[in-house]
Amino acid sequence: MSSTGRTISLVTGGNRGIGREVCRQLGASGHTVLLSARSQVAAERAAGELSADGADVHPLLLDVTDPAGVVRAADQVRERFGRLDVLVNNAAITYDTWQRAADADLRVVAEAADTNLYGAWRVVQAFLPLLRVGGHGRIVNVSSETASLTNMGGGTPAYTVSKAGLNALTRMLAAELRADRILVNAVCPGWVATDMGGGGGRPVRDGAAGVVWAAALPDDGPTGGFFRDGRPLPW
Ligand code: NAP
Repeated sequence: MSSTGRTISLVTGGNRGIGREVCRQLGASGHTVLLSARSQVAAERAAGELSADGADVHPLLLDVTDPAGVVRAADQVRERFGRLDVLVNNAAITYDTWQRAADADLRVVAEAADTNLYGAWRVVQAFLPLLRVGGHGRIVNVSSETASLTNMGGGTPAYTVSKAGLNALTRMLAAELRADRILVNAVCPGWVATDMGGGGGRPVRDGAAGVVWAAALPDDGPTGGFFRDGRPLPW
């Protein structure tokens, strides 16, 4: 068990973009943050920068597409901290504006799913025993309103299908983990100016805030929902 008594939060893809800002905000609010990245160097660099501001941020190597590596990361967290309170599935790839569903390259679709859907899924499976320990687990799946079936149009097929799958996973996990008192929600950060979002979006601070909101829900907070800025979105 952690000797600090702090909330222990893990963020995937925490080295840049929205994930890095989620780590910064969680650290600033007193969480012990496990800043994970698929590169050890990138994890150490970002964790070092955020720790310089006084936050308790630890680097963790975690490539969500590497099943053995994900299990290794969970083993390390078990040995060092004994539990996990918050899991933010943020890592994602392939906003494929260049293709359409009608003639999409299905290898690109499969590659996106391996990170955006199966990646989040395998991280949940590996860390679930640790999330159950504290009795107040939170899982935040960083999704996109693009994946809302209600408003869905054409385009970005690999990305959109992977995030629609992530939304479905959110609903299933919320139902299955209710008895474990683990709240599971999907969050759209909005259009955010990052490497993926490009220029013109809102600042990472604003996009990350809605993710942090879902990470910090009280025990009687919502589960199985889809939110942006703390407000419900249509599925
Ligand atoms: P980003 O700037 O492209 O950052 C993506 C992060 O994911 C990077 O840290 C990247 O690591 C990491 N990553 C990719 N593949 C990985 C893997 N296999 N294992 C571990 N980490 C991996 O993207 P972002 O804009 O911050 O997006 C963050 C989340 O918000 C994503 O889920 C995205 O779909 C969602 N979102 C973004 C927007 C937007 O407008 N930006 C809108 C809606 C939803 P490397 O540095 O190693 O590549």
